[in-house]
Amino acid sequence: MSALTTEDRIGVIGAGTMGTGVAQVAASAGHKTLIYDANQDAAERAISNIRASLERRVSRNKLTRPDLESLVSRLHPVSEMKQLGEARLVFEAVAEDLPLKQSLFKELENLCGRQTLLTTNTSSLSVTAIAAALSRPEQLVGMHFFNPAPVMKLVEVISGIETSREAAETVFEMAAMWGKHPVYARSTPGFIVNRVARPFYAEALRLLEEGVADCATLDALMKESGGFPMGPFELMDLIGNDINYAVTCSVYSAFYNDPRFLPSLAQKERVDGGLLGRKTGRGFYDYREGALNKPPSTADPAPPPPALRILGDLGPAESLVELWEASGITVTREEGTEAAVLAGESRILLTDGRTATRLAADSGIDDTIVFDLSLDYGRAKRIALAAGANTSSEALQTAIGLFQVAGRDVSVIADTPGLLVMRTVCMLANEAADAVLTQVCDSQAVDKAMQMGVNYPLGPLAWADRIGPGQVLEVLENLQQAYGLDRYRPSLLLRRHAEADRCLHPDDG
Ligand code: NAD
Repeated sequence: MSALTTEDRIGVIGAGTMGTGVAQVAASAGHKTLIYDANQDAAERAISNIRASLERRVSRNKLTRPDLESLVSRLHPVSEMKQLGEARLVFEAVAEDLPLKQSLFKELENLCGRQTLLTTNTSSLSVTAIAAALSRPEQLVGMHFFNPAPVMKLVEVISGIETSREAAETVFEMAAMWGKHPVYARSTPGFIVNRVARPFYAEALRLLEEGVADCATLDALMKESGGFPMGPFELMDLIGNDINYAVTCSVYSAFYNDPRFLPSLAQKERVDGGLLGRKTGRGFYDYREGALNKPPSTADPAPPPPALRILGDLGPAESLVELWEASGITVTREEGTEAAVLAGESRILLTDGRTATRLAADSGIDDTIVFDLSLDYGRAKRIALAAGANTSSEALQTAIGLFQVAGRDVSVIADTPGLLVMRTVCMLANEAADAVLTQVCDSQAVDKAMQMGVNYPLGPLAWADRIGPGQVLEVLENLQQAYGLDRYRPSLLLRRHAEADRCLHPDDG
């Protein structure tokens, strides 16, 4: 099968949100693009919507008028599907309905030759199941774009059981030619992004249900400590709680009710109540005019300790030491197998998945405090701390002052195992590792997909390598023990890498 060139025509079926976006991408890459929709006006409307969005780019000097005109001149509405017969690649973006997609592709197969690649934008159906209706199933490839397609760089190139390698490779190369970042994935529920992202929402929802902190505090921690561009609650409100909840339910049921994907009752309650997010004016936050949403909870200023002792190596949190030294605190270091900061009476540790109360019980030291993971301890703006049940308020104030003097806003949250950022990142890495273990994709693809598809600051496997596979495994094992839930069971791949003490990401050595 020869590679596609800009001389090749592209057909788009379904001129809704995704069809419109992908038609724009194809025309912008130089292809004559034919758009067909069962609703006669939809294709015309798609072209005028593309024109309107390009006009905005022209007015911001991001695009020249001649380029706009030439792009739009390559877009052609067609009134009959048979006119797509001349296309080298047909991209389908109709409603998410298996019999509908199967019947469309059956018809297309009769209209198009063997050279025509058939691609589907399905986000939750099996590519193998769609292809089952075809006499040439090897020609069908999943081409999963993200919304808005002209902006989002990731394309998951999905192979069903029958998809030919050649067809998948040709689609992959074409997506790259269109300026996208394609990744290969095997047809499995949620493919890569919609599966691996589940813990991003699930862990925050769980902590909200447990009353560990409110949405604003949890969101602020994910952004200002975890480095994520958006917090889970504001993102669910933006996507729509109905959509986000439906994706979780679909992945949960497709994995035979695996507890890892258990949907949240806190989210269901909002869906049932019509609190769908921005689109209905209320979700986890209130978007109605004049509404006041609570700010994240932030501890009042507390004095820093004059001196501290560091036991062992703080691992990912080592960069804090320089900040403490720079602030004038006298820092002394001591050998030790356990990594801890000792300041006054306080013993302060990076979470290992045990609560502060449990760590206090295990060590016999009541004044134990845990802190959360940060993407970059040198630069993070906020940190979560939790005190044990018997920790004194003086010890907690010392810990608060210690992180404040390093430039952090401090959110004191309830004593939950693995706090928020650490448990979320470990669960994302666990899911990513399991996708690699079960050959959905390789480790580079999963990291690239999560960075390009949902703008994570690091790929989950690269992040796990940075924390240390052994530490990630320990956090998951402690979470599993604390909750007694299979949800936190570590993936065999993660365990294997931790036991061999090797990284999960081949790029890193
Ligand atoms: P949409 O509802 O915006 O558009 C669907 C279009 O298909 C409509 O214009 C409709 O008239 C047309 N259509 C329906 N039946 C048809 C037929 N028989 N022949 C021709 N046209 C027909 O849908 P969308 O949001 O663009 O989603 C399309 C596909 O992309 C779905 O499979 C969806 O799961 C997937 N997807 C959507 C998103 C997203 O964020 N919207 C993201 C990734 C993937």
